[in-house]
This record gives sequence, C-alpha cells and structure tokens, in this order.
Amino acid sequence: MWKVGNGERINIWRDACLPNRPPVHCNWRVVHDYGIQKVSHLISYLHGGWNRTLLDMIFPLLIVASILAILLATNRGEDVLFWPMAQDGFYTTKLGYRFVSKHQHVGVASSSSKVFYPPDFWSKIWGSNALPRCKEVVWRACLSVLPVRVLLRACGMEVSTECPFSADHEEFVAHVLLLCEAVRGCWFASNLGVCWDPSSSSFGDAMQALVSAMDAEDVGRVCAMIYALWEARNRVIFDGQPFDLGRVLQRAQGLLADEGAASVQLRRAPVMHSTWQRPSCCVYKVNFDAAMSQDGVAGFGMVVRDEEGAAFAAATASSFYALSEAVGEVMRLRWAMSLAVDLGFRSVCLETDCLQLFEVWKKGGVGRSYLATLVQEARSLSSFFDVVNLSFIRRTGNCVVDFF
Ligand SMILES: [Zn+2]
Repeated sequence: MWKVGNGERINIWRDACLPNRPPVHCNWRVVHDYGIQKVSHLISYLHGGWNRTLLDMIFPLLIVASILAILLATNRGEDVLFWPMAQDGFYTTKLGYRFVSKHQHVGVASSSSKVFYPPDFWSKIWGSNALPRCKEVVWRACLSVLPVRVLLRACGMEVSTECPFSADHEEFVAHVLLLCEAVRGCWFASNLGVCWDPSSSSFGDAMQALVSAMDAEDVGRVCAMIYALWEARNRVIFDGQPFDLGRVLQRAQGLLADEGAASVQLRRAPVMHSTWQRPSCCVYKVNFDAAMSQDGVAGFGMVVRDEEGAAFAAATASSFYALSEAVGEVMRLRWAMSLAVDLGFRSVCLETDCLQLFEVWKKGGVGRSYLATLVQEARSLSSFFDVVNLSFIRRTGNCVVDFF
C-alpha cells in the first residue's frame, strides 16, 4: 500500500492508499472537469492539509472520512510503498505467508498432509499442558514430516528403512511411535495404560481417536510420551544405546515435571506496576489517552502532574480522524508534547498504555508505516525539552485519563 507523502506518485484510481475501501463511487464530472488523477491534486498546499471542499465534491462521506484519517506528514516527503500488516511497514516473507494463509485458507496442515485434522484436535494438542517441544514432535508426526527412515529413503537418502528397535518392520511414524512391540509395551506400562491395536496404520487417526475423550492433563502425558519415544529412537540410531522401557517412562514423567516447574516459574515472574508512579523531583508526569469511535473519529485526554500528584494542567480534544487506535494514540502523544512545550514544562515523563506506540518509540520510529512517521515527528519535538521519556503503563495505572 502507498503511504501518502506529497501525493505526486500515487494515482487515485489505480493505486491503493486507503486502508479500508477503494474509491469506486465518485462524482466523475468533477473528476473530469478538474483533471484529478493524483493524490497531490487533493492536497491544499495553501492550508497544509487535505482540500476538504474538493473531497466533499468528489467522494461520498465515508470515503471522505477515511481520506481525512490519512495524516499528512508536516515535512511532505516522497510517497513510499509500505506493508500495512507490519508495525514498521516493512514486508517480510513471513508476514506475506501469514497474510496468504489468512485470506486463502492455505494452512500448513492442509498443504503438507493428506490427512484432515479437525480444529478441535489441534486445540487439544496445543492447549495441553506439555512442553512446547513435545507438542511440536506430535504435530510433526501427525503431518508426516518427522524424519523416519522410510521418509528419508523416499527423499532420496541412502539409509536402511528398518525399524531401529527390532528390525522386524519398516520404520513408519505409526510403527516407531506406537506399534513396534517394545513401544507398545511402553504405552501399556505407562499411567495412560494404552493398548494399541497393531492393525492401525495411520498415526494421525490413532492420535485423534486417543485424545478425543482426554482432558488437557492426559493429552499432555501423551505428548510427553511421544517425545520420550522419539528421543529413545534417536539414542538407538545415533548413540547406539539400546531401548530401555524404564528409562522412556522416567523421561516422559520428567518432561511433565519440567512443565510443572516452568509454570511455577511463570507465576513468579515480576508483575508490572499498574498503579500511578511518582515522577522524580522537578519532572512532570504527562498521562494521555486516545479513544476511537467506530467511524474512525478520535477523542483525546491528558493530564500533567508533579511528584506530589498535584495536577498542573489538563486538557481534552475531540473529532480527530485517525486510521487506527495506535495512530490516534501517536497523534495524541504529539499533541500532548506540543501542549507541554507551549505550557513551559521542560522536564517531562510521558506515559502511554498503548504497547504498539511504546515499541515503535523505543525503536526510534524507524519504519515506513504512518505510525512510524508520526512517532518520528513526535520524537523531533524532544529537542524542546531538557528531559523527556516515554514509558509504558498498564491501563489501570492510566485511569486518570482513561475516561472513554
Ligand atoms: Zn519395530
């Protein structure tokens, strides 16, 4: 998508620059009479903004609102292409893939495997309380991308296809993880007490049937068991260590204990402060917030306080058009900063509850997106202050201005 700078390179009728809707309905007579082709034709250089009169003459109200939401940078640079789905506006293959997956329903599971898995099967696996690496092995086994010998041979590798545990069978996923005699013994001896039917041939089908009636804890046990078996298989092949039933069961149990320790550690993680914190001496704290209505109109609020918590200034403003909530928040930040400059506050500590804004600010506003440009503009106001910093605060700590 195009980010509007001076509008010279963007053709209104051919190029995408509106985030939501293309300008399909318009007053063609006016367009023809005024010879309107480029976005620059809609910008009034006299007033330094959009030519509202012209916009109203050409487009319906909804389109006008979304054009007005495009904020024109004060230093009107060149128009640049950016990727709207990325925070910094830069395109990466990963983001492109995510976009295609979302819009064309090209899931990994459906493209890599002929077996169909219902979504609740995956949510059971991923939602279980096993370690991520255990779930991943199960996922790979279900999609037949676990590098078992039969698969490696099919890919052209010169390897034996024998089962590493007993040489009685070829090494398919279902055989090595469920059906080989030694492995079946493991499953039966475990807390799960599963007795596999040796005639079942698909790992995925067997898994679906097994976990369908299980709770998250048991599904976690299944994942840990599969991981322990895969590890034992690798030990046999790569380290020449014989298969040991007791060791596999112990390992599966140990993996669950690791998971328990991990969750305990997680609960002990430091809690972020969520109450209002005093600024240091002679520094004024500026809290600000933006709220958006459904039609993209933003309203703002801000309050300036000293280290005693006494309010020195407060202001509100409304009816600003903004592309998104985060863009609304940066507009607010820029507005709050310029207001603080005008009011003579030289040392300020700004607080926001918008994580996206905070992250872009931390990175110095690098990027091609509108958000990044606005953050750069706001940062350029820093030179008017002796001290200025922006910190992130959770919503409850910012409730003084969170009034929408
Ligand atoms: Zn075997």
